[in-house]
Amino acid sequence: MQELKNLMQQSGIVGAGGAGFPSYAKLAEGADLLLINGSECEPLLYTDYVILKNELSFVLSGISEVLAHTGIPRALLAVKAHTAKNLGLEDGERLADKIFVRVLPDAYPIGDEVSLTYEATGRLIKPGKLPITAGVIVYNVETMYNLGRATKFNEPVTKKFVTIGGAIENPTVVKVPIGAKISDIFKKLNIKLTEGYTVLDGGPSMGKVINPATYSVAKTTKGILILPDDTEAIRSKKMNVKMAIARAETACCQCTRCTDMCPRHLLGYPLEPHKMVRTAMGVAEVLPEMVISATLCCGCGICESLACSQGISPRAVIENYKTLLAENKLRFNQGGEYSAREERDYRMIPYKKWMSTLGVTKFDLVADFYGEINDFNRVEIPLSKHIGAPSVPCVSDGDTINKGDLIARAGNGLSLPQHASISGTVTLGNNKIIIDKIN
Ligand code: SF4
Ligand code: SF4
Repeated sequence: MQELKNLMQQSGIVGAGGAGFPSYAKLAEGADLLLINGSECEPLLYTDYVILKNELSFVLSGISEVLAHTGIPRALLAVKAHTAKNLGLEDGERLADKIFVRVLPDAYPIGDEVSLTYEATGRLIKPGKLPITAGVIVYNVETMYNLGRATKFNEPVTKKFVTIGGAIENPTVVKVPIGAKISDIFKKLNIKLTEGYTVLDGGPSMGKVINPATYSVAKTTKGILILPDDTEAIRSKKMNVKMAIARAETACCQCTRCTDMCPRHLLGYPLEPHKMVRTAMGVAEVLPEMVISATLCCGCGICESLACSQGISPRAVIENYKTLLAENKLRFNQGGEYSAREERDYRMIPYKKWMSTLGVTKFDLVADFYGEINDFNRVEIPLSKHIGAPSVPCVSDGDTINKGDLIARAGNGLSLPQHASISGTVTLGNNKIIIDKIN
């Protein structure tokens, strides 16, 4: 297993689309199932779909590598029903030796490791624990693609598949160098931004508002969406957090609807957003342990955009508590027995209902692969988009480097190296390495 860990780390492979957990660090003894996340939980994203459609052989070879090096007897490729239909896959279908398809319901949310593992296997990861404690290692589809390429060509991660979608004529998936500027990609695709629209890194539920003029593609960039400001998806991201918290303190009628619909609560986790809303921030600052279950929230936004009829955002309150808990280095660590609630089955949110809640249904067109775009004059490669220590530059200002060269070593402890995604001249920036093509 160590050999595979080394390959994954040296190739700079990171969870492609989530929080950016270095993939090598997930490899551990004790798993009997490899679960590949192709659920593409967020609406409007088609990155995994395109990879599965066009590059399945590399995904399967990456999966086979993990099975061979770990001795895990079986892998499940988990996709939602609409993706399975688009790809012509059947539940239980055998894709290769020891690799099978698992079709998930078209519900939201399912893409986070806790919901995914439960839905695909019936195993519940205990609150605050990692999938390995339930005997499962979870990797994303693109992570396996990157491993497949690294195994076959000894190729580090220098490119990224990204959905460019939302309110544009032809949503598409492009393959671009890591560090490519979003504004440059828009120019090459002839996309013009107009007033009244906002750009997100990620999906309409959990994506973050970005400035496309300064933002670059990272190894974790799954999709860039352009959405109108008058959609619930954008409204919820632009809310004034101070006002949201003040509103929560004054307007909540404690109806418990947010808790009744919370997917983590429905999985039996001790998370009750209505109680979070009731707890005053001043009290939490003195006794942060009181809000420790805030760390169990996956940030799905159901409590905010769908459950609450008073316009309150339990999610905003909980995010505030998460910051407070992180500052105090507090994590949920209570043992005990947990099981999903009976009502979960009929309270799951259909995917189409969720799209309509966010106001994005009309933008949901199945994206196809545009192709690779390589002719960028400049890339800006981030050094700390992964979890753990930032990468440490091993090049200097003015150095000339070739595509694929190592430009930053892994930092101490949990960390990853970075490689040049284009050839050119180096400038060291603030927490990034800039490469300018030599013309
Ligand atoms: S749904 Fe809204 S009003 Fe009801 S308990 Fe939750 S935050 Fe309060
Ligand atoms: S965002 Fe709200 S509904 Fe979603 S997990 Fe957190 S508390 Fe529950």
